[in-house]
Amino acid sequence: MTDLPNGHVRVTWIARTLNEPNEPDPKYPDGRHFDIARGAVNACAVAVPYPAAGEGLWLLECRDCGTKALVTANGAADDPRSIKLACKWGV
Ligand SMILES: [Zn+2]
Repeated sequence: MTDLPNGHVRVTWIARTLNEPNEPDPKYPDGRHFDIARGAVNACAVAVPYPAAGEGLWLLECRDCGTKALVTANGAADDPRSIKLACKWGV
């Protein structure tokens, strides 16, 4: 597959009621930058809309290497702003 740069990670919002506390973490009043790349040399940081529309999950899928990630959100201040995941492109 040769399609590359920033559009290579598909971002999908999955609205879902979560069994998690709705109190935003006061440590992150401006959102969180998740790093779930586990120190991978090649990784991609993908911005997600902030704040999320409500309770649910961000699903990230690399169209090329198949990496997938799920991160929860609550429509609150501590929602993710970006998610960094291992990816062979490393852009
Ligand atoms: Zn990838």
